[in-house]
Amino acid sequence: MIVSGTVQLLSCPECGADHPLFRFCGDTDMATDGLASAGDRDRQRLALFHTRDAEVEQDEELRSARLAEAIQRAPSAVGLDFQSFRTLYQPSELTYRCPWCDAAETTVSQEMTPAEFVDAGGRIDCIGAIELREGQAFS
Ligand SMILES: [Zn+2]
Repeated sequence: MIVSGTVQLLSCPECGADHPLFRFCGDTDMATDGLASAGDRDRQRLALFHTRDAEVEQDEELRSARLAEAIQRAPSAVGLDFQSFRTLYQPSELTYRCPWCDAAETTVSQEMTPAEFVDAGGRIDCIGAIELREGQAFS
């Protein structure tokens, strides 16, 4: 399975972790269904895997961030015509639970390409039949 996407860094205000997270890009939900990533707390390692492969769960250094909530900032549509609603609409902001201390306030502090993550000293492991394809950002 060939995957592509971006690396996001979650910064935890509680324990100071800099946790990398892979955001998979896919044409459909089907394309990324079951794919997950796990990272360390020092933005050094990131592993991509399919959830049916349990290997990575035995790695003590890597953990997966869980989505805490999607904060929907869109205003109530009540009483608004569609044009006004569209002007006011903002995409939802995702927050994650810190996998290291369970704080719920971590947000994405930085987003980069996989190549930039590696250039900064990080390592990306693809586990099982996953192959990371570098996207258009690299060409
Ligand atoms: Zn934390």
